[in-house]
Amino acid sequence: MKSVVTINDLKKSYGKIEALKGVSLDIKEGEIFGLLGPNGAGKSTLINIMAGLTLRDSGIVDVYNHDVTKDYMVTRKLLGIVHQETISDGFFDIETILAYQSGYYGIANNDEKIQEVIKRLGLYEVKNRKVFQLSGGMKRRLLIAKALVHFPKVLVLDEPTAGVDVELRQALWQYVRELNEQGTTILLTTHYIEEAEELCDRIGIINHGQMVTIDDTQALINKLGNKKLHIRLRDKIDSLPKELAPLTPECSDQCRQWSLTLHREGMSIREVLKTLEEHDVAYSDLWTEEGDLEDVFINFTNKKQ
Ligand code: ADP
Repeated sequence: MKSVVTINDLKKSYGKIEALKGVSLDIKEGEIFGLLGPNGAGKSTLINIMAGLTLRDSGIVDVYNHDVTKDYMVTRKLLGIVHQETISDGFFDIETILAYQSGYYGIANNDEKIQEVIKRLGLYEVKNRKVFQLSGGMKRRLLIAKALVHFPKVLVLDEPTAGVDVELRQALWQYVRELNEQGTTILLTTHYIEEAEELCDRIGIINHGQMVTIDDTQALINKLGNKKLHIRLRDKIDSLPKELAPLTPECSDQCRQWSLTLHREGMSIREVLKTLEEHDVAYSDLWTEEGDLEDVFINFTNKKQ
């Protein structure tokens, strides 16, 4: 698959703070890529460099093989970027802002696209309102609309649902998926694991300015997400056999139920059950629960600290 964004050994410091310590990343045409990391990891710095708002110290940042600094006029048309900040054009109404925005990209008579984004982002009822009359959620939708009116090939969303209510979050996710199905490549940054897990085909985990892993979302979960094994005992027991200690057993329901964490390279379920049988611990039920991205995230971010 073709790479649409190529980042190689990207470095950026603010004085003594090394915000990006040599980040490399390839985003493929048609994918939804999630850059996941805690606050301060370097996500916005990376986006701002792509957008041409922040100058890098060194490294490559290309969009469709165009350098984001040298070929800025080309790359800014290929990208639609939604930053975190709120919108400032307070005295204009939504339709006017979107028409200006289209004009900025040299697109005249863009009414069809403008009406589409207005409708799809739930702005129809308020399209004649001025920005200062809009709620925070509406302003957020308008920012996304602004990034879409020039038909960008790559939509970049910096923390798209930070501070957004659940309903709007679902609507935005749905719209992002549809844009993706229509051929738009998506890059989003988030510190919400749920968002990355729900939306992204691939995920890069960034921490302290370094990319700690990049993989398919499901592969990441499979590789490192720990599985839970829950066991219902016939009789309560105060502690499980010591061989099971590495699985950090936790009890509930007055120690009639125990939960164990299965690690990828640790004991298997069969070995756990064998140990219980050897110690004459009788059980009446058992079930497992798959790990999720949170386990992966904790695993990687802890390791690098
Ligand atoms: P994230 O978006 O993942 O929260 P940022 O890219 O905003 O992370 O920040 C990465 C690091 O760079 C942080 O330590 C932050 O304090 C620092 N930083 C970001 N922007 C600036 C700036 N304009 N001046 C100084 N330090 C900055």
